[in-house]
Amino acid sequence: MDVARNAAGDLVTLEQVRGLAVIPDLWCPGELPDGEECSAEVWTTALHSTKKAAAFAAHHGEGCDESSQRSKDRPGDAGHQHQQGARPVRWRMRLGVAEPSTGPDGRRRPNPDRPGQLTRRHRTEPTQQEADSADQRSFSTLLVNLVYGTMPAGLELVLGGQDPVPANSVIVHARDASIAARLNTDVIIWGSVAGYTRTRWDGLMIRLTDAADQVAILVDKKNLARLNITDAGALLGRHVIAFGRYTLPEESKRPHVRTLHATLAFNPRVIRRRR
Ligand SMILES: [Zn+2]
Repeated sequence: MDVARNAAGDLVTLEQVRGLAVIPDLWCPGELPDGEECSAEVWTTALHSTKKAAAFAAHHGEGCDESSQRSKDRPGDAGHQHQQGARPVRWRMRLGVAEPSTGPDGRRRPNPDRPGQLTRRHRTEPTQQEADSADQRSFSTLLVNLVYGTMPAGLELVLGGQDPVPANSVIVHARDASIAARLNTDVIIWGSVAGYTRTRWDGLMIRLTDAADQVAILVDKKNLARLNITDAGALLGRHVIAFGRYTLPEESKRPHVRTLHATLAFNPRVIRRRR
């Protein structure tokens, strides 16, 4: 983990704490499966080591998307040169909906509660290694990486049951999200909140700063309830991210992206503490 949150709600990078005499209290900004922040206490490891990469560490909450089963060693750590090969970094995005159950070899199972007799278990097909190697990430964490410029190079995203796509083909900043470039495609759009209008169905149309063709994000009542947004005015100036279809309603000049599932997130977060 490269980024943590301080008491003021701001995100702090490892580089920012490296020079400090006293490390401030920090918490994990990761997201739990129910959409709340992990908020586990964070400490630093190997901050001054020449052998291992420095990192933020925490006893993460169950299912936190910042927790990792993987080694903390990274290419280029002193004494730990290793070949990464062509394997891409791949994140499976949490959509907040039940996803199809897939076996370890990537095949679908008819019943997730009953292991099939013909399905291989505990073994990955060598040619299919990448299919089940994706780390789960929330849209909140994706937004943190976009805002702080810490997106892994060559990142691929898995969105539901679709094939992995290059992150930079589906993620678009509001200023580049023109009708000409994106109409009728699925996009992950991000930007900062310039204003909002309430919709007829208790949702919000969120306007974005410097948005191409004034593209907005349409948020339904369910997403507002999930994020506990009661005062929409508090969203102004925050960064926002959402995944959905880029749509231009008939007889309208203004396009919008209609948020799919539970993919809406803000930074700083609206919900912070679980306790
Ligand atoms: Zn965590």
